[in-house]
Amino acid sequence: MKKLALHWQILLGMIAGILFGFLMTQFSWGKGFTADWIKPFGTIFINSLKLIAVPLILASLIKGVSDLKDISKLSKMGGRTIITYIITTVIAVSIGLIVVNIVKPGAAITEETRSELIASYKGAADSKIADAEKQKNAGPLQALVDLVPSNIFSAASNNRNMLQVIFFAIFFGIGLILIPEEKAKPVKDFFDGFNDVILKLIDLIMLAAPYGVFALLAALVVESPSADLFAALGMYGVSVLIGLALMIGVYILIVWFFTKKSPSFFINGISPAQLLAFSTSSSAATLPVTMERVEEHLGVEKEVTSFVLPIGATINMDGTSLYQAVAAVFIAQAFGMDLTLGAQLGIVATATLASIGSAAVPGAGMVMLVIVLAQAGIPEAGLALIFAVDRPLDMCRTTVNVTGDAAVSMMVAKSVGKLGDPKVKDWDDHYEG
Ligand code: ASP
Repeated sequence: MKKLALHWQILLGMIAGILFGFLMTQFSWGKGFTADWIKPFGTIFINSLKLIAVPLILASLIKGVSDLKDISKLSKMGGRTIITYIITTVIAVSIGLIVVNIVKPGAAITEETRSELIASYKGAADSKIADAEKQKNAGPLQALVDLVPSNIFSAASNNRNMLQVIFFAIFFGIGLILIPEEKAKPVKDFFDGFNDVILKLIDLIMLAAPYGVFALLAALVVESPSADLFAALGMYGVSVLIGLALMIGVYILIVWFFTKKSPSFFINGISPAQLLAFSTSSSAATLPVTMERVEEHLGVEKEVTSFVLPIGATINMDGTSLYQAVAAVFIAQAFGMDLTLGAQLGIVATATLASIGSAAVPGAGMVMLVIVLAQAGIPEAGLALIFAVDRPLDMCRTTVNVTGDAAVSMMVAKSVGKLGDPKVKDWDDHYEG
């Protein structure tokens, strides 16, 4: 019997998880049972993905950079990558602003709903505001200081410091280019082999993906807030979703225009990573799978994926920036504030920077939203308004974040002549072996 394709298996796992979660909410013991006996498997699954993220970045980036042979190639690719990432982020914020100004979801929020939401989520919002406060108080060059780790092991021990690991790997790769080839070769061969081992581990972990996402979604459903609050925020959620869907359309156009690859080729190739991004709400946890899919199923060479994707997972968050724009204007609308064109242009700048600064973990976009609100003079307390639906929207924006990284990597690969035929044509054979 032909095995079901991986993305269908994951999708079935997701649907079964959601149904199971709803079923469990019907029983008094259901919540406890899910928390004790189902959720841990989801946690193990996410942990195993995170576990390989740092070794994968190290091995593939060191190998990728050292393969570039000369440093000018690196700076050419680096320049294109960063510029494209910034352009797509600005497009995303602009789409978000256009949608939220047309739909005006905040106008539907009554005084009563506003107080109810603020009362229910004040504590949770305050803790995000406190997290953001720490970042706000940093000096102007703090981001640069944070880029350079003083100790690679402590940088690698914390999944939030991915930029530091990336910095070390690029630095190390440059060193490898600069030493004589006979000395560099064994080191490169080591990282090459190491990288293959990690890719094999991703295959093994993906065998558990349908069960992992089942557990993650079941746990999420039993923990989610009441449906009434969801309904009150319906138009806001719909606005974010419309914007995100448009952004996926932009990626499909980018891929088609620059690489002439069809939408179905692109979406089929990347869909398992999208489904994982949706289930885990973390670009960092999804990174190993994104890299594997883009390399083996979309035909982008390792030299490009190893560089473009880890950086993208950390700084290119188009879904997050779009959401931040919609959320900021929604909160302003709910408080009856009129934002001038100048204030909205300010949001383009701050949401772009805030998404770059957001960590690739669940809920991080909301912490940085505080900074966008503060800059635009919108009450920070408004964060409580959007809390109830933040997790489902986080799942969707993370999916867009990951899709954006994949699209840009194809475009950059094409521009430097590193886009070939995918290694795995029948895109699920790989996991069946
Ligand atoms: N969860 C998102 C990510 O990992 C970040 C965010 O918007 O909260 O890409």
